[in-house]
Amino acid sequence: MGRIQTLPTSVINRIAAGEVVERPASVVKELLENALDAAPAQIDVTIEQGGITLVRVVDDGSGIEPEDLPLAIQPHATSKLRVAEDLDQIATLGFRGEALASIAEVSRLVIRSRTATGAGSRLEVDGGVSSGVAPEGCGLGTSVEVHQLFGRIPARRAFLRTPATEWSHASEAFLRTALAHPGIGFSLTHNHRRVHQLIAADGWRQRIADLFGRQLADRLLEATEADGDVTVTALVGRPEDDLPSGRLQHFFVGCRPFRDRSILHAVQEGYRGRLLAGRQPIVFLRLGVPPLSVDVNVHPAKMEVRFRDPGRLHRLVLAAIRRALLGLDAPPALRPPAAGPDKTVASEESAAAGLAAAEVIWQRQLADDSTPPAASGSGGVIPAVPPLPPRPSAPPPAWERDEATRQEPLPLAATGGDPARLQAERAFQLHDRYLVVETRAGIEVIDQHALHERVLYEQLRDRLASGTLEVQPLLIPERIDLSPSAHELVERHAGVLAEAGVRVEAFGGSTVVVRSKPALVGRTPAAAIIAEVVDRLATLDAAGGDRRMVVDEVLHSLSCRAAIKAGDSLSQPEVDTLVADRHRYPAARHCPHGRPTSLLLSRQELDRQFRRT
Ligand code: ADP
Ligand code: MG
Repeated sequence: MGRIQTLPTSVINRIAAGEVVERPASVVKELLENALDAAPAQIDVTIEQGGITLVRVVDDGSGIEPEDLPLAIQPHATSKLRVAEDLDQIATLGFRGEALASIAEVSRLVIRSRTATGAGSRLEVDGGVSSGVAPEGCGLGTSVEVHQLFGRIPARRAFLRTPATEWSHASEAFLRTALAHPGIGFSLTHNHRRVHQLIAADGWRQRIADLFGRQLADRLLEATEADGDVTVTALVGRPEDDLPSGRLQHFFVGCRPFRDRSILHAVQEGYRGRLLAGRQPIVFLRLGVPPLSVDVNVHPAKMEVRFRDPGRLHRLVLAAIRRALLGLDAPPALRPPAAGPDKTVASEESAAAGLAAAEVIWQRQLADDSTPPAASGSGGVIPAVPPLPPRPSAPPPAWERDEATRQEPLPLAATGGDPARLQAERAFQLHDRYLVVETRAGIEVIDQHALHERVLYEQLRDRLASGTLEVQPLLIPERIDLSPSAHELVERHAGVLAEAGVRVEAFGGSTVVVRSKPALVGRTPAAAIIAEVVDRLATLDAAGGDRRMVVDEVLHSLSCRAAIKAGDSLSQPEVDTLVADRHRYPAARHCPHGRPTSLLLSRQELDRQFRRT
C-alpha cells in the first residue's frame, strides 16, 4: 500500500501560514494589502499589544458579497487572478489567495463586510473552524479583525517577542504602506492611543512630513530621472543628516515596497565619499516600471521582486541620487579623489595613498599585536614605490631586525620613557581632518572625529556612572517637531534621556521641547541629538534591548553628534587636549563604531621604507 497522501486543507493552510504569517506585522501587511486592493479612500488600523492580541483593519472599499465570504478564507481563492497569464501583469497587491486562509488557521478571524449594493454580513473563523456567514448591519467596506495570533499554537506563540518589539515591526509595516499610498487617508491606533492620523496628501513630500515630521521632510532633496518607460523619483537626505541605521530608507516599485541589493548599492554609490563608513542616508525612492518588466511573484511575503533589466535601474537610481545631491558642496575633507587635475585634489590623492599604506601597516600590526610583524616583503610598501627585488644575501627576518632595533637606543626615544615627555607630545592638525603626533614608536595619525567621538563617549559614561554629569539648562528651549512614532519613542525613554542630561518635555501634538543638554556636548543642536537617538532606539526596539543598552545608545548618540567633524579647524590647545585625552581612555584606539581612531607608522617601518636597515 502506498504511503503518499494528499494533506488535509488545514495542514496545507498551516504550512502556508508559516511562510506568510510570521508575526503581527505580517498580518498588518496582508490586511492592508487586501484593503488597498478594494480601492478605499480611508483605512483605519487598530493594534493592541503590538498586534499579538488584536489587529483590526477597516476600509471603506468595495466590500465582499455575502456568498463570497466563505471563499475569501479558502486557500488559493482570489478575486484578483483568473488565468495564469494574469500573473505577468499584476496590478493588485494580492494575488496568491493565501493570506486570509493562513491567518484564519492561526488566530480567531472576524470579517464584516458590505458592498454598495448588498447587505452586510459577518464571518468568524476560529483556528480554521468557520462559524458560517451571518447577516450583520455594517458600514460600506470591510473590517477584518485578527484576535490572539498563534493563541492556539504555543510553539509559534513562543517565537513572538515582547509587545514593544512586535509593535515596532507592526508600525513599520503600517508606515511603509502609508508611504506607498499618499493619496489614501490612514489612521493607526495602538493600545487605544491614536499614533497616526494621515489625511489624503497631494504629494509624497506631504505624506513624508505627516509621517516623519515637517523638519525632516523640508530638508529632503528631490530628483527624478527617466529612461523610456522607466522612471525614478528620489527624495533623499543631505549627507549631514545621516543616521546609523537604514531605517529611513524606503524603496517602492509602483505602490509596492521592496528590497533589492542592487538598488541599495546604487544608492550607496550615489553617496560615495559623502558619508562615513557605517552611516546611512535618508532615502525615499519610487520606481515606475511597466508591469511586464517586473516580476513580483518571487517571494511569499512579496518583499523581493525581480526586474527584467536590473542594470538599467541601477544606472537610473545612481543618476537620480547624484542629481539630487548635485550642487551640494562635498565637504572638502571628504571629497572623493577623482575630480580632475586640480592641485588640491592631487595633493589629497597622494595623502590618501600614503594613508592607505599606513592603514596596511597598522592593520598588520593589529592582526599580530603580540608577536613581531611577519616578514612580508611588500605589506607596508607605499604603493607609489615598487617593492625591492629580493637581495642576493637575504636579510634576517623582519622580527629579528626588530629585536635588534629594540636593543639599540632610539634617538627619538631618548626622553621617551619620561611621562612628562609624553604629555608634551608634538601634535598638529592636517587638512582640518587629521592630527599627526610624534610618538616614541613612530608617527601616529589620528582621525580627529573618530577620536573625539570615542573620548566624549568615555567621558559621558564615566560621569554618568559617578553621578558627576554636568547638565546645561537651555536659555531658549529647543522645539522639535517629531513623527508620532518618534514622539512615542522619545516619551517612553524620557527617563533615560533625562538621566543622560537631555531633558525632553511634551509640547502638544508630536512636538517636544528640549530643556537641557549635557555640558559636554557643547552647542550641538538638540534636534540632531534627538534624530540620532530616535534612530538608534527604534533599531534597538526592533531587536529587543534592555535598559542598559538604551542608556548606551543614548550616550553613543550624544558623542556621535557632538564630536568635532572632519573639516573643523582646531586651535593648538584643542589639538593638544584631544591628543592627551587618548591616553586617559585606553579604549580610545577605536571609535564607538569600531573604526580605528588612529594609525601608527612605526619608526621601524619608516626606516625600512627608507632603506635604513
Ligand atoms: P489575495 O489578496 O491574494 O486575493 P487573500 O486571502 O488575502 O488573497 O484574500 C482573498 C480574497 O478576499 C481577495 O481576493 C478578495 O476578493 C477578498 N478580500 C479580502 N479582503 C478584502 C477587503 N478588505 N475588501 C474586499 N475584498 C477583500
Ligand atoms: Mg491578500
